[in-house]
Amino acid sequence: MYLDHNATTPMPEPVRAAMLDAMSSAWGNPHSAHARGQRARMLVDRARGQVAALVGRPAKDVTFTGGATEANTWALSRCGTGDRAGVVVSAVEHPSVRAWGSRTIPVDQHGVIELDALKDCLDDTVAVVSVMAANNESGVLQPVREVAEICRAAGVVSHCDASQLPGRMAVDLDADWITLAGHKFGGPPGIGALVATNPPPPLLRGGGQERGRRGGTLNVPAIVGMGEAAAIVTEAGVMSSAERDLLESACVSLGGRVVGGQVPRLPNTTMVLFPHPGDLIVTALDLEGISASTGSACSSGSSTTSHVLSAMGLDGVPVRFSLGRDSQVAQVIEVLRGIIERLEQTCAS
Ligand code: PLP
Repeated sequence: MYLDHNATTPMPEPVRAAMLDAMSSAWGNPHSAHARGQRARMLVDRARGQVAALVGRPAKDVTFTGGATEANTWALSRCGTGDRAGVVVSAVEHPSVRAWGSRTIPVDQHGVIELDALKDCLDDTVAVVSVMAANNESGVLQPVREVAEICRAAGVVSHCDASQLPGRMAVDLDADWITLAGHKFGGPPGIGALVATNPPPPLLRGGGQERGRRGGTLNVPAIVGMGEAAAIVTEAGVMSSAERDLLESACVSLGGRVVGGQVPRLPNTTMVLFPHPGDLIVTALDLEGISASTGSACSSGSSTTSHVLSAMGLDGVPVRFSLGRDSQVAQVIEVLRGIIERLEQTCAS
């Protein structure tokens, strides 16, 4: 049972099929003028339209990148000019965003950014504000519409890392720049996009690909896979939180505390602090064939407290369950109950 969809998602069969077809029938360079190149070009254009439909933006605003890390790096490393070069980020951003922050906006005890603190730090040295749509560890949603409004009023660009939104909720954002990650919603890893009408100057200069916005020969199979995945999740709509809620109630009845449990969150995510270390629970679950995690895939395995928990004034090693559309949790609850009981017996003896 795979309950780690925020780390990466399995690729549905139609995505794999579309990628295989692209590899066998459209391996030309989409920038070549001949028919083989133009066949690849056609598939890229189709995928661009599918990704654009997912976010409700024009296709010309979609620039493919080598993943969300690259899109974030592009957005935040190339945004400033002269005295206006400050990058304001929230305290709970992905490391690929936090790396560029010159100022950090705190979050409250629930993990939601403090809008007054944002307003206070906007001055004419700030180029861009980056606040994620949904946190990858806790699933907590940020008030990104308000953030975009505040930025617009202050004449500052707003960037939103929306990597965790598609496939779980509608991507209805009005940030100036939006980051997407293909592998978080059924596409392959190593492909993402920055959606922007006026993007920053290119991070990768090359042969003029992507209208001069991102150099490098396009990864056609990955782009096709991301496009197909975008079409599937657009069609599927918002995910139900029913199974997540069931699992979450069971965790609470077993002594767990839900991180960000009192505020709106992604319907597939629950991050729980149990009275026992989360790494022991995650290992025990894995031995029973259940894949969960202690936080983000980038931070699991590191012994320091997650920056997301620290920012909320919490510590400990949590367990993060991130469900897919077809996840069924009844069996997981039984296994989890057995694990917690065994840990309690061990502590008592
Ligand atoms: N941003 C968020 C919120 C993420 O969860 C991730 C994935 O770990 C990334 C960015 C990085 O995505 P990618 O693996 O496509 O570089």
